[in-house]
Amino acid sequence: MSIQSLFEQATIDSHKGSVQSSSFDTESFNQAVMSTYARFSLALERGSGCRVWDTQNREYLDFVAGIATCTLGHAHPALVETVTRQIQKLHHVSNLYYIPEQGDLAKWLVQNSGADRAFFCNSGAEANEAAIKLARKYGHTVLELENPLILTAHASFHGRTLATITATGQPKYQKHFDPLMPGFHYVPYNDVEAVEAAISELDSGDNGVAAILLEPLQGEGGVRPGEIAYFQKLRQICDETGILLIFDEVQVGMGRSGKLWGYEHLGVEPDIFTSAKGLGGGIPIGAMLSKSFCDVFQPGEHASTFGGNPFACAVALTVCQTLEREKILQNVEARGEQLRAGLQAIATKYPQQIAEVRGWGLINGMELQADTQTTAADVVKAAMDEGLLLVPAGPKVVRFVPPLIVTEAEVDQALQVVEKVMAAM
Ligand SMILES: *Cc1c(COP(=O)(O)O)cnc(C)c1O
Repeated sequence: MSIQSLFEQATIDSHKGSVQSSSFDTESFNQAVMSTYARFSLALERGSGCRVWDTQNREYLDFVAGIATCTLGHAHPALVETVTRQIQKLHHVSNLYYIPEQGDLAKWLVQNSGADRAFFCNSGAEANEAAIKLARKYGHTVLELENPLILTAHASFHGRTLATITATGQPKYQKHFDPLMPGFHYVPYNDVEAVEAAISELDSGDNGVAAILLEPLQGEGGVRPGEIAYFQKLRQICDETGILLIFDEVQVGMGRSGKLWGYEHLGVEPDIFTSAKGLGGGIPIGAMLSKSFCDVFQPGEHASTFGGNPFACAVALTVCQTLEREKILQNVEARGEQLRAGLQAIATKYPQQIAEVRGWGLINGMELQADTQTTAADVVKAAMDEGLLLVPAGPKVVRFVPPLIVTEAEVDQALQVVEKVMAAM
């Protein structure tokens, strides 16, 4: 079967499913599923490209992409082909054995980044856990610290496991989950002096900073880009002290910023970085990559049952190769500029409502004025009613993270909805 006919078959099959379904029973869902999410009253059933349909067959333009995850949109022919082929061939074996697909993905990532080696897991939090473990071992064995500490930023986001909520510099994610993990200290983002002060204050006896963990652009914290001068100075400090510079590329990486990795905007390379969200295009996979000098793991020190299995790795490699083959980064830059210019024009028209538009490539935020009643969630709800899916990044920032294959016409359509919504606010 050709890729195109596989694609059509997948689309036809999902259309069939929708014929039987009518309205969605949220009550029985909420009884059976833990209430960890505040969900919108919308049940999505199928998708194609940048569009998704709910159980009542209503169409939405998807500028959420599973939160910056569906790199190639929905039901992309290349993904359908790889998923089908790999599940028929071999989908899971243990890391007791060599896994060719894992090696191929690692080689692609290493060739297309400043890193030398990769470790695979299943999510962003797990990738950051791996980076934290590696940094602590490096702190003990190379920097000879009894108590290696990690600096992270206020308003950061690194995941929901115990170590990563501790790394996350936002108390709302930590409340009631203490005692938190020891060994983390927080500094304001984009503030060199604060980092320098923390390093010297924390350097006493057995204590010392082993690593600085930062997002090149803070995603959940409100789509806040890192500043070049800040990151270049941190690179210099880390080179002088042996402290590791670790970047969380989980949201901004894999082409979303218009460059493959967010750090390429900052003119510095990290010692370690993590990837997840966009890496598998929606199939769960995470990765931690490092330079060889700080790859201090020995066999048996870190592992994941599912991590790097043939299925997830084959899919992620397809995402990587499709980005390359279809020159998708060029689309990200062009569509990103179009989107920011359009949002900026709307912001200029409604200065009482909109404070700022900012972002890189196809990760953009529209910040609402602090002194208005309107919240990001209000804008997201109003846009949803008009057939456009958006996601807040904090209480006052509306985030735009469409699939990287979004077209010029789709960006125009999204802008028309935002204009209509802001006019009505
Ligand atoms: C989403 C996110 C994470 C957590 O990823 P999960 O796959 O949900 O564990 C970590 N860091 C950043 C920057 C993220 O955006």
